[in-house]
Amino acid sequence: MVAKIKDVETTCGYCGTGCRLTLKVDEERNKIVDCEPAQSEINEGKACLKGWYGWDYLNDPKILTRRVNKPMIRKNGRQSPLVEVGWDEAVKFVADNLLAIKNKYGPDSIMGTGSGRSTNENNYLMQKFMRACIGTNNIDHCARL
Ligand code: SF4
Repeated sequence: MVAKIKDVETTCGYCGTGCRLTLKVDEERNKIVDCEPAQSEINEGKACLKGWYGWDYLNDPKILTRRVNKPMIRKNGRQSPLVEVGWDEAVKFVADNLLAIKNKYGPDSIMGTGSGRSTNENNYLMQKFMRACIGTNNIDHCARL
């Protein structure tokens, strides 16, 4: 029997460029079996290796349950289990710990990382936060990692 393959056009989620991709979906198995760069003004039928070949994780049935959907912290040190908390508690926890590290070791002991998957505005805020609030120029982005 020949598999029935459906084309599903989508936008690559790996970085902010926004290349269009065509996923080849086996309808019976509901699985992505291939991917090709689509024609668009953005990528003109081309894609980098991440967009072209980095799709197999999408077939993992546990993809949704493995995502972190709520804030979690380790309340009793690095070896303690992660527990779900509310946003207010999570933000206070991060702020208190960043302040404690800054006071003890200085602002240059802290480094921030922006993301190619975030908007320019979010990345701008990240570097502003690191420079104006933390007081360091230790800011980089994921493309260098
Ligand atoms: S450059 Fe690569 S990672 Fe970025 S959107 Fe295009 S295919 Fe995806």
